[in-house]
Amino acid sequence: MSSDANTPVLRNCIRLPLAEDELLEVTAKAKDYAIMHGAAMRSKTAFSPDSLNFAPFVLVPSSFPRKEFEKAVALQPIINRLMHNVAHDEEFITTTLAETIKVDEFTANLFNIYRKVLAHGFTQKTSLGMLRSDLMLESGCPELSPRVLRTAAGEDGGQDAGTAVGQRAGVVVAVGAAAGTGSKEKELQQEQEQKQHREVQLGRATKERERRANGVHSAYCCWKQVEINTIASGFGHLGPASKTIQRFVLSELGHADKLHNMPDNNALAGLCDGMVKAWDIYAKPKAVILFIIEDVSYNICDQRFHEFYIRETYPHIKVLRRTLTEVHREGKLGQSKELLLGSQEVAVIYFRAGYEPGHYHSQAEWDARYLMETSLAIKCPSIHYHLAGTKKVQQALAQPAVLERFINDPEEIKAVGKIFTGLYSLDDNEAGNASYEMALRTPERFVLKPQREGGGNNVYGVDIPDALKRMSRVERSAWILMDLIHPPLTKGYMVRPGGDMPPQIVDMVSELGIFGVVIGDAEHIVHNYQAGHMLRTKLSTANEGGVAAGLGALDSPYLIDSDDEDEQK
Ligand code: ADP
Ligand code: MG
Repeated sequence: MSSDANTPVLRNCIRLPLAEDELLEVTAKAKDYAIMHGAAMRSKTAFSPDSLNFAPFVLVPSSFPRKEFEKAVALQPIINRLMHNVAHDEEFITTTLAETIKVDEFTANLFNIYRKVLAHGFTQKTSLGMLRSDLMLESGCPELSPRVLRTAAGEDGGQDAGTAVGQRAGVVVAVGAAAGTGSKEKELQQEQEQKQHREVQLGRATKERERRANGVHSAYCCWKQVEINTIASGFGHLGPASKTIQRFVLSELGHADKLHNMPDNNALAGLCDGMVKAWDIYAKPKAVILFIIEDVSYNICDQRFHEFYIRETYPHIKVLRRTLTEVHREGKLGQSKELLLGSQEVAVIYFRAGYEPGHYHSQAEWDARYLMETSLAIKCPSIHYHLAGTKKVQQALAQPAVLERFINDPEEIKAVGKIFTGLYSLDDNEAGNASYEMALRTPERFVLKPQREGGGNNVYGVDIPDALKRMSRVERSAWILMDLIHPPLTKGYMVRPGGDMPPQIVDMVSELGIFGVVIGDAEHIVHNYQAGHMLRTKLSTANEGGVAAGLGALDSPYLIDSDDEDEQK
């Protein structure tokens, strides 16, 4: 949970609540509209391959500051390049993951494939990156946040409250340095640091009060990256589909004049065109694109719309779907190491599975992954891209001066540096042990993350100490610690299959994902572009908001220019 009574609220795009009659009518219509436009999923509770439920969605779009949205879009090609460079830096990947792979079996298995491929040389030098950088607005900034105002003024009482920003700015290093000293001395030093920090905060708080007295308010000050996905970055279809539903709803409610504030979203085309560009590079007219899928695909619309887009736009390119188990059974390498499924040669492999241990039932699936990795096919992602997307690498990238290794332009370094919130190693060394102590002292400020994808794996706030205490010192290095981000609230209707009719107004928070496509090899990038976006929104009381997991809902951004404007006009 990342919100409380002091969390600022972003204004709505239209006046709510709606009259009950109107709400009932438009919600029923929107549900049908969603199913009929493929904003749907297979039911987990009543699964049938022959039917679909609409995917949970937010009735009207959630507000998002235009300036921050545009910043995120503009930054994506730089993030693409960064991740491409990271993926191709053998030394960085190897040293960054060295401790993690000692204790995390899944990452170790991926790393073993990487090691074997390195030893034999890459058969295919070109990689296809289809990334999604996920981010949340931060309302807890020192200059703007009521939260920090409150803590800075000592209103929260707690000694450690409000120190997150200070730690981000380097206090953690000082704490780390003090770890070996006597506990009295350590306490004194911490007290001193906190005092200094509170003074800085108070200065900022005074400035903010002046701003407010002059009528300047803001519910956010920037956004922070939640994570970067390099494998199975979903919602290329559901992102744009969310806009389609909400555009329909706004029009039905008589607000067609507001549609221009919903940005274009060509994610599906952008991502599929990326696959086709890779297919062009492979340059074999009969070769196919292979989707690697789970045994059961609940998020079937998102996957199939990619396939259908390719088939409709490029009818000469065939698309196959196979599980890892099926690839193990049917796959082999040809004379030039081309991947063959039966007699069909595979040009491009798009992994929508393979990112979690449950997708590998036995050695057979790992063998299939290795077979594909060692083949001539262009992979999305290739193994080094997959490893570059681990939480541990994200944590390493957020450390001072690391970005300089991958980005030349100082302005770009500055811009990327700003998107990281505090990320801390839990490796068994001085700094890692200091982070451990910090997490035990003020767990409510953090989220604890393992090297997993797909949602539902993190540990939040007060649950962190127990989780950490159950681990050995060495086991901790499979995890990273991250500052909790505090997004502003929006208020609206969340519509779910089997949910209340009419839906109730609820407090929600959103996570924006920006897609990027990057294609190239270690020396050259041949394509690099931003490719649309997706917005997921969850109840403010939920820790995680996976739509497929049942906690989140499809949404799309309604761009606002400043949050003190009156939308009700
Ligand atoms: P996964 O790979 O499982 O998607 P994430 O890092 O994206 O892992 O975490 C899952 C979810 O947890 C996010 O979608 C977000 O809702 C929440 N979350 C993750 N990190 C933070 C954070 N630092 N602050 C607040 N919420 C977070
Ligand atoms: Mg995520």
